[in-house]
Amino acid sequence: MKTAFINKIHGVFDSLLSILFPVHCPYCLSIISPDKAFCRDCSKSMPKTIYKRYAIGGYPCCTPFPYIEHYAVAVKRMKFQNRPDLAKQLAVPLTKVIKEYYDISEIDLITCVPMHKKKLNKRKYNQSELLAKECARLLEIKYKTVLTKHKHNLEQHKTKSRKERENNVRGVFRLIDKELVKNKTVLIIDDIITTGCTLGECSRITEKGKARRVLCAALCTSVVGVD
Ligand SMILES: [Zn+2]
Repeated sequence: MKTAFINKIHGVFDSLLSILFPVHCPYCLSIISPDKAFCRDCSKSMPKTIYKRYAIGGYPCCTPFPYIEHYAVAVKRMKFQNRPDLAKQLAVPLTKVIKEYYDISEIDLITCVPMHKKKLNKRKYNQSELLAKECARLLEIKYKTVLTKHKHNLEQHKTKSRKERENNVRGVFRLIDKELVKNKTVLIIDDIITTGCTLGECSRITEKGKARRVLCAALCTSVVGVD
């Protein structure tokens, strides 16, 4: 009797919370139950495949979505329209492909592509860090910030060629402490992989810190990006 009453109170409290702070489907913005990652319609159209890529340097990368249509819209919303809350839902399909593509028992730590502090001050959050932290929580793997971006370079999408993209990221990242990655298998997470220059450079620096293996994952792959 007492338990039924407590459950009822919890139910009322949850309903009030969802009215005050509704949870949205990241792809279409319809309101969803707080324990869901997408609405019923969007779930039906989810890709069944894993998009496999390689970051520059040959580091494997898996992604659940192509950077098109409502998947691209969802990433842009999270990134540019002040919706860091969407990272919680967007990390769910990302976690799913990581689990399917890699042997997660071999991954020692998860990290993200870092943001320069100037950009972080402007945006207030690093969407890749939010995704990485949520994936780490869902996969029960330790999250650690191991890289910093010490040079404020041109944004990658403003570069014109692949060579320019490669040069633009060369030497902009640094390991905070080599001991953090030494002999470890590290998974680096980013929001989008285009040519793979950014993830490749982060991987190269991590490998230089004597990491055992470096793996990558991103939410979307821009398959029709810069060649
Ligand atoms: Zn939806």
